[in-house]
Amino acid sequence: MSLQGNNALLWAILAGAVGGIFSGWYFGEAMLAVGWLGTLFLNALKMTIVPLIVAAVISGVTSMGDIRKLGRVGGLTILYYAATTALAVLIGLVIVNLIQPGSGIAELSNVVPEKVSDKTGIGFTDIILSLVHTNLLAAAAENLLLPIIVFSLFFAAALTTIGEIGAPVIRFFDGLNEVMMKLVIWLMYLAPVGIFALIAARLGAAGGGQAFWNEITSVGWYCVAVLLGLFIHALLLFGILRMFSNHGMAYLKQMMRALLTAFGTASSSATLPITMECAVEAGIDKRAVKFVLPLGATVNMDGTALYEAVAVMFIAQADGYSMGITEQMIIFVTATLAAIGAAGIPSAGLVTMVIVLTAVNLPLEGIGMLLAVDWFLDRFRTTVNVWGDSTGAAIIERVIPD
Ligand code: ASP
Repeated sequence: MSLQGNNALLWAILAGAVGGIFSGWYFGEAMLAVGWLGTLFLNALKMTIVPLIVAAVISGVTSMGDIRKLGRVGGLTILYYAATTALAVLIGLVIVNLIQPGSGIAELSNVVPEKVSDKTGIGFTDIILSLVHTNLLAAAAENLLLPIIVFSLFFAAALTTIGEIGAPVIRFFDGLNEVMMKLVIWLMYLAPVGIFALIAARLGAAGGGQAFWNEITSVGWYCVAVLLGLFIHALLLFGILRMFSNHGMAYLKQMMRALLTAFGTASSSATLPITMECAVEAGIDKRAVKFVLPLGATVNMDGTALYEAVAVMFIAQADGYSMGITEQMIIFVTATLAAIGAAGIPSAGLVTMVIVLTAVNLPLEGIGMLLAVDWFLDRFRTTVNVWGDSTGAAIIERVIPD
């Protein structure tokens, strides 16, 4: 796409997002009528994910050549992701201690929400187990991306060791990757309408602006704490980007289409194709794009980690539990791991929060208080998740050997 075409598309997507907010706000439930347009866009994106991830990871890894190089790049990627996720939790904890959004709030619910009621037994071993699946096709059918990535990584690593006979296989996946990226470019033209419809219909489902405002103000300080934390973390990521990569403001602008898509879809996995496309256009080394971004969309969730820490502390404050330094250390570790374990789909963070709550013996009923505003905060934390992945690609690009 030309630079001018990009600019026009970015403005169109921005107009779609703003238009979606206004029409959902003022026309409320009437906007449910356009919901199918959003679903169409979302499903089209999802349709590309499995072949795109398989092709991108295999082509990305094999283009690095030697497995030892992959080990180094992979290690640094995981290190960057883990460090920034931990930083996000730390910011969340500082803010929630300063603002104390839960103090004085009456506990609003006493039932465990349906969404998490069957998840009460999830723990760390489940995160490890989710890396593999008994059946690759079943994983693909259920959109479980982590086992697909793990398989592709090992497949590609093995492919680099078998010499000449593997060459056509590598060429096949290189080609498949190019085709998928082309499809994504075409799909991007649907984004303005798709994002408009997704936002308008979701706000409509919440009953329009007034009803939504009433929901939000009942836990207003909690929302302020989450949003402020996310904003500060996004700024810090920008600082890290400026310091450790060759990119800056122009990169943020290039990634804007992906960030707006994240806001519209509340899913980093569904946004992944567009994140990759924007990063390629921003000139990021293709090997970093193909390897770092798919991994990031599934395991790197800075926004989710920050949100989980704030939410758990909020529940503790509202219920009158005091969380000392030991408890907060436990929250720090478990929120980081729970975010890694969360899938890149809407509300995944709400579900893995069970791990954090259980670790510090807080009642799961507390999640009931957060439900009504979760879809709203989800959009912001997903945007920060995708921004975190994007900065990762720009930074890791520098450590990939030629
Ligand atoms: N919706 C988020 C994402 O896809 C995950 C979450 O925090 O719920 O990145």
